[in-house]
Amino acid sequence: MDVTGENGVSERLAQVRGRIAQACRDAGRAEATVQLIAVSKTFDAEHILPVLAAGQRLFGENRVQEAKGKWPSLKERHPDVELHLIGPLQSNKVREALALFDVIHTLDRPSLAEALSREIARLEGRPAPRLLVQVNTGEEPQKAGIAPGAADAFLDACREEHGLTIEGLMCIPPADEPAAAHFALLGRIAARNGLKTLSMGMSGDFETAILLGATHVRVGSAIFGGR
Ligand SMILES: *Cc1c(COP(=O)(O)O)cnc(C)c1O
Repeated sequence: MDVTGENGVSERLAQVRGRIAQACRDAGRAEATVQLIAVSKTFDAEHILPVLAAGQRLFGENRVQEAKGKWPSLKERHPDVELHLIGPLQSNKVREALALFDVIHTLDRPSLAEALSREIARLEGRPAPRLLVQVNTGEEPQKAGIAPGAADAFLDACREEHGLTIEGLMCIPPADEPAAAHFALLGRIAARNGLKTLSMGMSGDFETAILLGATHVRVGSAIFGGR
């Protein structure tokens, strides 16, 4: 098998899909309740095309600028692609982000809620993005996200002060801790706030995330190879 070429990518995608299916069986969940987001950050169109050809339609990018360089033309060829922003969003990039992304996973502060609210109002009928709030479950100072203890109040403020509909939550657990406790915490915050979408789990831990209720897993290197 050529693990660096097209066959390698579609082979690895098939393996990831198989592992997701198995994790769903282990968790007693229907496969359709878990969506795979293929994280294509740092990879160019040449690497993304075979994944599109294999039928993958949800993709994740962590930088607005990088996504702007490769996705408009790919989306033209595949209008049913759903693009997810999984990296930090600067308030001055919100307009560009709304033009490109269908789902934003990284609403992480009041000023961004305010900027999103303002720009969504300008869309005038074009569909607004789906929004997830990022929770800093490990309370790591270098990481973005709302502290777990502040999440309920922030979600209320998003709805009541900014008029935003929040679909769910996202987290990136600390790299040096077992992820399960963080996934469970995110699930509890979502449940008590009536949110149905849980974006959690990456290449190293997506099976654990599925056991703990992930609806969206964000998988990069297990599909595209090392960055
Ligand atoms: C890069 C990235 C991923 C994918 O990570 P892998 O370990 O390559 O699967 C998932 N989520 C976020 C927020 C990322 O930045």
